[in-house]
Amino acid sequence: MLPGRMMDFPLTLTHFLERARTYYPRSEIVSRNPDKSMHRYTYADFVRRTCQLMNALKRLGVKPGDRVATLSWNHFRHLEAYFGIPSMGAVVHTLNLRLHPNDLGYIARHAEDTVVLVDRSLWPLFEKFAASVPSLKHVIVIPDAGPAPEGTLDYEALLAAESPEFELPKLDEDSAAMLCYTSGTTGNPKGVLFSHRSIVLHTLVCCMRDLTGIGEADSVLPVVPMFHAAAWGLPFDAILTGARVVFPGPHLDPPSLLDLMAEEKVTIAGGVPTIWLGILALLDQDPKKWDLSAMRTMLIGGSAAPPSLIDGFRQRHGLEVTHAWGMTELNPVGTMAKVKQELRHADAATQLGAQASQGFALPFVETRVVSESGQKLPWDGATMGELEVRGPWVASSYFSNEGQDRFTSDGWFKTGDVVTMDSDGYVRICDRSKDVIKSGGEWISSVALENALMSHPAVLEAAVFAGRHPRWDERPLAAVVLKPGQTATKEELAAHLSKQFAKFWLPDDYLFVPQVPRTSTGKFLKTKLREDYGDHLMKNPASAAG
Ligand code: ADP
Repeated sequence: MLPGRMMDFPLTLTHFLERARTYYPRSEIVSRNPDKSMHRYTYADFVRRTCQLMNALKRLGVKPGDRVATLSWNHFRHLEAYFGIPSMGAVVHTLNLRLHPNDLGYIARHAEDTVVLVDRSLWPLFEKFAASVPSLKHVIVIPDAGPAPEGTLDYEALLAAESPEFELPKLDEDSAAMLCYTSGTTGNPKGVLFSHRSIVLHTLVCCMRDLTGIGEADSVLPVVPMFHAAAWGLPFDAILTGARVVFPGPHLDPPSLLDLMAEEKVTIAGGVPTIWLGILALLDQDPKKWDLSAMRTMLIGGSAAPPSLIDGFRQRHGLEVTHAWGMTELNPVGTMAKVKQELRHADAATQLGAQASQGFALPFVETRVVSESGQKLPWDGATMGELEVRGPWVASSYFSNEGQDRFTSDGWFKTGDVVTMDSDGYVRICDRSKDVIKSGGEWISSVALENALMSHPAVLEAAVFAGRHPRWDERPLAAVVLKPGQTATKEELAAHLSKQFAKFWLPDDYLFVPQVPRTSTGKFLKTKLREDYGDHLMKNPASAAG
């Protein structure tokens, strides 16, 4: 090999800070406070304060590699922690405020967090698990809603005592920058340790024109929480490119978000389908109330975006959706559903089919579909198998080495998602492997049935899950939430589905429920549905298919 003769320059987050203060000092960061007032400052202020934070943490004894946790909503101070903690060589560990205090205690103990930054508004939650984390040496309170409780350090007082200069260290690009735990939908939460390099490469690729296309002219609104898979990297995308950042604070209800998008002229926003379902319902009620003409695209991911949602935004409101798939283990984005040029002239249904798929792999992410016995399956758009991925921002193991069985001996990560892949590389998620319905040896995709049910005009939400069956082992059951004031019978829903699916795919029964249980990151909680209704067909044999 003839070695290239280029510099070995590390890909680290410190460079983001340097660029921010040098080239974009006047770019703006806007946050909505808990009392709904707005906080605004510039990138210059952001970098100054981030340096003060690094000085304060250093004074408290934080060393390279130490885990410093955050328990925070999306706001400017959380952004300071996002950059300050890794830029001094430590690891920012985002705690998910929607988890049960016992789980938070488990995760903070597992991570061995030494310092935690807590929003004052989340203090009652923090108090419930703080005592169970012996590694914690310092508690810093972000005064978003009143002063710091006694015995804790006040974030603003700490910063005020420090110099706004900090000599950024030369870090190893492979060193850990951020620790995110999976939400534990499938077992104990597991830690994923992003490196500086993985974040930098993920950011560069996500900002490509054919992906999010984020640039200086954008106003980026991460609705997806910064404690969920690094808000899909949106804060990093924004700061690298000098974009305006808009943070919603704790106000995630549809009217507050719509007000924010209109008032701050947001150009790109990212959130899970539930958020967008609520927003679409409100826009449908009052289409003229909010001026969203600045919006370039709305990113949807985290769970499957129903085609009716994507189509509804486009047809009724002229709003464009970009559907993406990812996992905490992928830093987190793996595929994005961009309609390729050659499909731009196809009929509307084909285009929607591509847009509503999970998309095709980002550059440097490689994908394959594998059978239960480990055979590579064809990309024919029909054969279902497990999606496996590899790439420079895919985890190579979990923090403290649990879950080794997810990493294959030939260097791939087993996603646990059951998919089909078509000849153009578009991935379609059928299920998580634990949720796929195995009826008499055939696999039935709950996601396909859910999407079809949610295209019925009376259905707000629908989750399809496996019910135990005396003859077929498992049969699909649907939990359906109707839109307020709307009605639909079981027979109507079955007739609606039978237009698209073979008879043996149709759910054996439809359970009308007030709401579908969800995980802390907004996914349907199918374990709970199976717990509550898994024996429904055993108890009601009249409903069960013969
Ligand atoms: P956790 O694994 O802790 O639930 P993640 O947010 O990392 O948290 O979840 C990743 C999983 O979310 C994926 O494996 C997949 O099942 C699901 N998912 C993410 N994006 C999509 C999407 N666009 N469509 C369908 N499922 C998705």
